[in-house]
Amino acid sequence: MRLVILGPPGAGKGTQSARLRDKYKIPQLSTGDMLRAAVQAATPIGLKAKAVMDSGRLVPDDTVVGIVADRISEPDAKAGFILDGFPRTVKQAEALAEMLRAKNMDLDAVIELKVDEEALLARIEQRARETVAGGGSVRADDNAEAFMARLDAYRAQTAPVSAYYAEKGALKTVDGMAPIDAVSAAIDDALRPTWAHKVGAFLRRLASRLCG
Ligand code: ADP
Repeated sequence: MRLVILGPPGAGKGTQSARLRDKYKIPQLSTGDMLRAAVQAATPIGLKAKAVMDSGRLVPDDTVVGIVADRISEPDAKAGFILDGFPRTVKQAEALAEMLRAKNMDLDAVIELKVDEEALLARIEQRARETVAGGGSVRADDNAEAFMARLDAYRAQTAPVSAYYAEKGALKTVDGMAPIDAVSAAIDDALRPTWAHKVGAFLRRLASRLCG
């Protein structure tokens, strides 16, 4: 299973990706987590990305595309993966399509979590409060100012990615305002193969048996 989870900051991509990771036993590849790890480890990528991330803007496409290309080539990603936070621009989506084509692979689905914008800042603030209560440290970009920049980046650069996948017929939109379990159930429904899919897969198997 190869999935992409799309949605604005605070939509619940991380929560749902983690559940899908456990359900399908495939790695959750969060570019945000990978970049934060690079910042923490003060790698050359991390040193360059820190200021951009803290301000809520997007890290350059080449940087993230390189990270993802390396990561999906690791053995644990052979059976599939969940991309959380990537692609975030149409350029990244095109680079991903190219990477997968080179491996003779394709995405199974792109899940988009739709959430009202007014609810997002409240969710980010809630996450920050829970982190503090749990003794953790709040993300440098989980404040109102960086959040507004993240939302702007989402509107300008990531919303067109949904249109890109919708045009390819891969986009499945799920209501991200529902309680966590209801969102999970809606994602499960969206991933359930339809009869058309099953018949198509059967015919392809039959054809490949007959032809060779
Ligand atoms: P969010 O809660 O906003 O979805 P993430 O953890 O996915 O947060 O990302 C945090 C930050 O990391 C982004 O604001 C951006 O600076 C950087 N980042 C993560 N993924 C990408 C990407 N695919 N392209 C560019 N920048 C990215």
